[in-house]
Amino acid sequence: MPYQVVIGLEVHAELQTRSKMFCACAVVDPTQAAPNTAVCPICLGMPGVLPVVNQAAVELALRVALALDCQVAASSLFARKNYFYPDLPKGYQISQYEQPLAVNGRLPILTSQGERIVRIRRVHLEEDTGKLTHIQRGAESYSLVDLNRAGIPLLEEVSEPDLRSVEDARTYAEGLRALLRRVGASSGDMEKGAIRFEANVSLRPAGSDELGTRVEIKNLNSFRAMESAIRDQVARQSATLDAGGQVQQETLGWDDLNNTTFSQRSKEEAHDYRYFPEPDLPPLAVDDVWQARVRAALPELPHAQLQRFMTQYDLPETDARLLTEDAATAAYFDHLAAPQHGIAPRAAANWLLGEVFAWLNQTGGGMGSLPLTPAGLAELVRLQEDGTVNLPTAKRVLASMLESGRGAGEIIAQEGLSQVSDGELIAGLVHQVLDEHSHELAAYLSGKDTLVNWFFGQVMRLAGGKANPAVVRQELERQLHSKKA
Ligand code: ADP
Ligand code: MG
Ligand code: ZN
Repeated sequence: MPYQVVIGLEVHAELQTRSKMFCACAVVDPTQAAPNTAVCPICLGMPGVLPVVNQAAVELALRVALALDCQVAASSLFARKNYFYPDLPKGYQISQYEQPLAVNGRLPILTSQGERIVRIRRVHLEEDTGKLTHIQRGAESYSLVDLNRAGIPLLEEVSEPDLRSVEDARTYAEGLRALLRRVGASSGDMEKGAIRFEANVSLRPAGSDELGTRVEIKNLNSFRAMESAIRDQVARQSATLDAGGQVQQETLGWDDLNNTTFSQRSKEEAHDYRYFPEPDLPPLAVDDVWQARVRAALPELPHAQLQRFMTQYDLPETDARLLTEDAATAAYFDHLAAPQHGIAPRAAANWLLGEVFAWLNQTGGGMGSLPLTPAGLAELVRLQEDGTVNLPTAKRVLASMLESGRGAGEIIAQEGLSQVSDGELIAGLVHQVLDEHSHELAAYLSGKDTLVNWFFGQVMRLAGGKANPAVVRQELERQLHSKKA
């Protein structure tokens, strides 16, 4: 394709505060609470009420802004963004417009092309709208309004148009979600609408550094929707340009059901929000002391942690990504692979991502529900690495550790599971198997080489699964070889 794709993303994240942005109403789980039960005169936009800024929301916003390396404004302003829509009882949304909380940040991402820096244009606070449910029953058609969501604190992060592909956009969006979660700002729960995207897409001739005309797509509620919408735009715009036409700047909505865009009416198209300063709220002040305190308390951020896991533990990117997806897993791994445990980080990663993750998937719990300390798991990995038990036995021991809470050493001792590496003993077992299966031995000697695996299985069975597989294989080959001679 002779065009370069240019994308800028606007990400809206609900902040996980206990109460709403400008009133004391509880922030409730949309899948649990009955409609319109978490509302009050302020978030319903009754006359004569006054908004008060939720400082906990500002604190979370500050964490995000600083984690994104933004310059934070000592004083920022709230404005009214006016439009009429049934999900907006006040007739305006309180948002930050001309003087946002923070500007000029950056989020590093790791793409298949290497590390990239995505510049962040601005981070600002606003409030969420209510939720509309459209009902269509035969000829009847109407909409239901739930205002539980109205007034939930929302943080918007606007990127510069620095993304160059669908993959970039996805990696950036995932990276930003990981950061929002890591600093405790947002649940990041897409199924519950906690994060929503708007994608701005344009094309330009490859090699050009001027921006092409952009199309904005709103209402993207999942990574999948965002990717489909961008692909759809790239296809449409390149067809237009190929045919000698010009892309029209416009705002579109995304129709999740039909996987296509639709033209937005009224509120988005008008684009005249008649912003004006919110008269009922003073400027939002964030002093240096507050900033310094929040900055000092930031955890290790996901991107830095991913890089560290890849270098410090020499792990492939896919493993490092899985291990750093959430703070609890990463902390567990740091303990597990700590030098005093004396196990190879790769072995530690294999156990955690393999057997332990499988168990967590089965039980449906998170890392916090794992009844196994890093030291306990390390003991098992060590006993397998030093040959005390073989791999299949080690897996059985793990299952029994998870079930009973007993230690690996204890289980192995009590159940007599130690691996047999004794050469003489194994030689005896091999001898016995070859002796008892003269028919198969004859077949082997007349050229059926694959039977060696069958003999191997017989020896392991005779050893109750406890024999050292390497020793068995070597001994078996030695005895078969001498039969051939
Ligand atoms: P608005 O507020 O109307 O959406 P902005 O100028 O704030 O407009 O831009 C919003 C987003 O659009 C930003 O993420 C920005 O990076 C992106 N953007 C701006 N111009 C382009 C372009 N030509 N192509 C792709 N994205 C763009
Ligand atoms: Mg926009
Ligand atoms: Zn309220």
